[in-house]
Amino acid sequence: HHRFNLFPSFLTFTWVHRIHMEPTTTTAAAVSPTTRRRQRKIVVIMGPTGAGKSRLSIDLATRFFNNAEIINSDKMQVYRGLDITTNKITMQEQHGVPHHLLGAFDPIESVVNPHDFRKLASETISDIMSRRGLPLVVGGSNSFIYSLTTKRFDPQSDVFNGPDPDPVSSEQRYKCCFIWVDVCLPVLNQYLSKRVDEMLDSGMFEELAEFFGSGEHLTVHRSGLGQAIGVPEFEGYFTTVADAEEDVMRLVEVYNDAVRRIKDNTCQLAKRQVGKILRLKDAGWDLKRIDATEAFRAVMTADSGGGGRVAEIWEKQVVEASVKIVKQFLEE
Ligand code: ATP
Repeated sequence: HHRFNLFPSFLTFTWVHRIHMEPTTTTAAAVSPTTRRRQRKIVVIMGPTGAGKSRLSIDLATRFFNNAEIINSDKMQVYRGLDITTNKITMQEQHGVPHHLLGAFDPIESVVNPHDFRKLASETISDIMSRRGLPLVVGGSNSFIYSLTTKRFDPQSDVFNGPDPDPVSSEQRYKCCFIWVDVCLPVLNQYLSKRVDEMLDSGMFEELAEFFGSGEHLTVHRSGLGQAIGVPEFEGYFTTVADAEEDVMRLVEVYNDAVRRIKDNTCQLAKRQVGKILRLKDAGWDLKRIDATEAFRAVMTADSGGGGRVAEIWEKQVVEASVKIVKQFLEE
């Protein structure tokens, strides 16, 4: 699929391919390898779904930190399949930047839990560091980010959920630079609703039709990829109603209801994710908040000629601000 899933296609961001870049001198590679290995520095890009984390990570990796390699920390995107539904960055959008733990696990056999992720991602980080790369952890699942970065992780504890969550530890096993891409929720909700329509336009429905048609919904793990937003919402449509083809009006009704629930659940997800980020922040985690609201406001009001303005705001308020933070972190 050739969609631009992170930002609407009418935006005119200019993508620069990584291999055409001159190596930058301000990256961590300028520091001696032994120092780097000892410091074990990683950059984490967090934020709710839809806030532009992938986009930002590619901007940073292609234009400023040429040794960066991305480690996915979205718990649905670790599985193979449902690429549109789970909003995976496409090969085209990756622009040659190495991506790890993205679509890497069989959704039938495996459920990747935070404990697994801690092990997998830390091994990946060691690999990246051994070739003097800069690990860039990117994704919205805060339980993954927590399990990976915390010094002592207890698989039994849950610091985010339940009436009485366990205390958040602020001892980290890496030197972390946490970038929190934030968008004020009403603006993000408006964008997310539009994004669902665009995902449907670019093949989400067909992807799910194939998923249910081939019986994959029966074999994927219920608590893994089977939970991806879009699967439960469309289950009724594909498994019962679509058979009763004679009633077209009913079919349309069930379809529209599924789309409505996908939009609602995506907005709920974003809200929960922000809640988890605030919990970390309140516990004293040094999260650098980058406000991308203006860029998203511009996206929502842009007509076909408004893309340039969006790109300009994104560059100034999100990319430049992040570059400054990461550069300073690497120099510390
Ligand atoms: P965590 O709580 O582990 O940090 P999270 O914030 O990604 O992870 P939860 O609040 O636990 O997510 O909600 C998880 C639900 O959100 C999943 O079960 C799934 O329905 C949905 N979800 C999360 N990420 C995606 C995604 N990339 N695509 C589709 N659905 C997703």
